[in-house]
Amino acid sequence: VKRESRASIRKRFQKAGKRLTAERELLFDIVSRHPHLDATAIYQLALKADPKIGQATVYRTLNLLAELGIVDVSNLGEAHAHYELRADDHAHLVCLDCGSVREIPPPRGLRALDDLDGFDVRQTTLELVGYCPKCLAKRRSDATTQDENA
Ligand SMILES: [Zn+2]
Ligand SMILES: [Zn+2]
Repeated sequence: VKRESRASIRKRFQKAGKRLTAERELLFDIVSRHPHLDATAIYQLALKADPKIGQATVYRTLNLLAELGIVDVSNLGEAHAHYELRADDHAHLVCLDCGSVREIPPPRGLRALDDLDGFDVRQTTLELVGYCPKCLAKRRSDATTQDENA
């Protein structure tokens, strides 16, 4: 998937009359390098780079990045919000066991649906929730072991 460059992020901040502070840049970097993390995990990574950064700052900055349209927030079938840089339309394969997230192209024709009552689609999000091949194999072998013990 294609994502925005750092230069265009800088411009977006300027346009919104906001400064791209070191903290904001740090969080942008973390989200761009580690897509699909929740706020707690992002905070842990931010702490490693800047031990003085506060949790409230991290949450506030993530909200700001979302408000400016730089970051997308999705729930990925869990209670936590996950963050990623705004990207071309794509769908997520979310594993219920290990929480891994894979990106796949969106199903063809999703935007070409004709019965939208004049609704102007700007973005599509699609989460497919299930089990990744690794976890599926583990579940199968666990089931076999249980059968043997029965
Ligand atoms: Zn898995
Ligand atoms: Zn994604």
